[in-house]
Amino acid sequence: MIGKGSKLYSILLLKCPRCHEGPFLHKHPYNLGSMNRVRERCPKCGLKYKIEPSFYYGSMYVSYGVGVAVAVAVYLLILIFGLDLGIGGIFGSIVTALVLLMPYIGAVSKLIWANFFFSYDNTVARKAKQRV
Ligand SMILES: [Zn+2]
Repeated sequence: MIGKGSKLYSILLLKCPRCHEGPFLHKHPYNLGSMNRVRERCPKCGLKYKIEPSFYYGSMYVSYGVGVAVAVAVYLLILIFGLDLGIGGIFGSIVTALVLLMPYIGAVSKLIWANFFFSYDNTVARKAKQRV
């Protein structure tokens, strides 16, 4: 199970990497106008998300990796379900999946990047939970 305290929890649910309580982004990834803007600080535990200016540029490398993983996953699903799409159909399915998932891939990549630098902190999490 993916529970609090696991990096996957923070990454998939887009939560603060330290307390797993506060939101990481200003708005939902599919709110396209905000372009996955990262908050200045965690509203729950006060963690400063941006260690330095343009800190999240590095997440672009991560999103490349996540994109490749999504492409492989789509390809495997096509194989598992035995769909006979031909090379064009497979390519089209992968491109469609990538376009539809792009906002989420971008958000997840920023969280993966942040999780390289921050770790879950039990004590902070307990305090953050009590704050409203
Ligand atoms: Zn936090």
